[in-house]
Amino acid sequence: MKDFNAANHIQDLQYFGEFGGVNPSISDSSTYTFLSAKKMFDTFEGNAVGCYLYSRHSSPSNLYLAQALAKMEGTESANVTASGMGAITSTILQLCKSGDHIISSRTIYGGTYAFMKNFLPDFKIETSFVDITDLQKVESAINENTKVIYCESVSNPLLEVADLRELSRIAKKHDLKLVVDNTFSPLSVSPQLLGADVTIHSLTKFINGSSDTVGGVYCGTQEFIDATKNVNSGACMLLGPTMDSLRAASVLKNLRTLHIRMKKHSENAQFLAEKWEHDGLKVKYPGLKSHPQHELYKTMIHQEYGFGGLIALDVETVEKANELMELMQNENLGYLAVSLGFYKTLFSASGTSTSSEIPEDEQKEMGLSPGLIRFSIGLDHDIERTYQKMKMCMEKVGVL
Ligand SMILES: *Cc1c(COP(=O)(O)O)cnc(C)c1O
Repeated sequence: MKDFNAANHIQDLQYFGEFGGVNPSISDSSTYTFLSAKKMFDTFEGNAVGCYLYSRHSSPSNLYLAQALAKMEGTESANVTASGMGAITSTILQLCKSGDHIISSRTIYGGTYAFMKNFLPDFKIETSFVDITDLQKVESAINENTKVIYCESVSNPLLEVADLRELSRIAKKHDLKLVVDNTFSPLSVSPQLLGADVTIHSLTKFINGSSDTVGGVYCGTQEFIDATKNVNSGACMLLGPTMDSLRAASVLKNLRTLHIRMKKHSENAQFLAEKWEHDGLKVKYPGLKSHPQHELYKTMIHQEYGFGGLIALDVETVEKANELMELMQNENLGYLAVSLGFYKTLFSASGTSTSSEIPEDEQKEMGLSPGLIRFSIGLDHDIERTYQKMKMCMEKVGVL
């Protein structure tokens, strides 16, 4: 994993604005003029290079951001979307048609789960949800209609790690596409290098990092990206989850500091996870030796970015979780909010929020306790001070 440096790849891109600005000029048009009618025809047929036809298809600002994200993931190309779900649904609907079958990790983002479980069956696309860490279960779930294996590098909210190398081997053996949602681990994990066919991010989280917008991206081969944007048959072109140009320019500027932020998120999370485990709390963090896939994860990441900013803490009951979160918010230690990747710590009880789409009995089966709090650790300057303050809250509500 040493010879690939995503941050260098992003750094090496050079853009000049229209007037020599240090940022590219923002394209603020939905439609584009053509010098000749013939040129317009060629563009719509896909035969003209460097011409824009309509901003639902592409725009200069969106292409700049997409190019930087493709560089980050080491893929040929990428396409940005209005939300992470826009990227996920476009990718799945491009790869799967009526009659097809998906194998998905059972611990995935609630919206993705709901899409596969409740929405796709009406289009005769069925999904088998499996324990993604059990490779035998994954392989035996494959049938003649299977097209896709879908997982998150590090899962939401249980922080299980998917063995992307092995999943890719299984996918190749059976001629399937491996689609990986890498939202929790940008820069740390490069799914493409481990064999993924399509890598997805919700830009809403770490990549944009300022909790001011939703956004998404899918990264893959030029052929795949072109197919999704085809004016006659492309899932993204026809469903239309296009990111706005002004927003794309804004996300690109935030992407510039991602490498610094990820290191700090990971450093702070590692510190708290170690302290909490030492204090006897039930904590899940891939950077702890006690994490079942700790050794595997070490072989998957670019170590300088650490083990990520997410921690799962199980305080047993939803009542205790709620009491603790409210107290921490009152003490200004973070916000009781869903989402992740913000400069402030965010916390939510997953079972009653971002994973509430998953029925209670299934939550139980996958080990999602009602008292599970998902922390997205912020960029706190003095994490020891934060730890001490959190400890006081935990003692007050009887968690410690
Ligand atoms: C938030 C999230 C999504 C959905 O992204 P949106 O930008 O909210 O549409 C998908 N996957 C994961 C892992 C997420 O955390």
